[in-house]
Amino acid sequence: MQDCLFCKILNKEINSEIVHEDDTCVAFKDINPKARVHLLIVPKKHIDSIAHMEEGDEKIMGHLINVAKKLAEQNDCKGYQLLFNVGREAGQIIFHVHLHLMGK
Ligand code: AMP
Ligand code: ZN
Repeated sequence: MQDCLFCKILNKEINSEIVHEDDTCVAFKDINPKARVHLLIVPKKHIDSIAHMEEGDEKIMGHLINVAKKLAEQNDCKGYQLLFNVGREAGQIIFHVHLHLMGK
């Protein structure tokens, strides 16, 4: 998708600190971390938000959670929060769905 910041990061047109990549998703460090570990797990498929999920996308979302769990373990998180902001009113500023992993 043109003019999508996260699509540009996924396509390596914009630099980021990528910590994980597989066929389905990429994870990189949040540029403005709000926790000791703050990673964004982003599907390669452009989906605007959870509200825009289509039939079958739940498989992708399940995968994001599984990757978040593994990254939390790799980063020795004692506990962590997983968050999807859905919609501008809820604080979503990037309209390419992403899972926040915020770890202690
Ligand atoms: P949200 O409010 O859920 O849309 O979250 C967007 C997140 O993207 C925020 O936590 C930002 O700090 C983060 N962010 C914005 N631009 C970049 C970037 N270029 N690289 C990494 N993270 C970014
Ligand atoms: Zn995108």
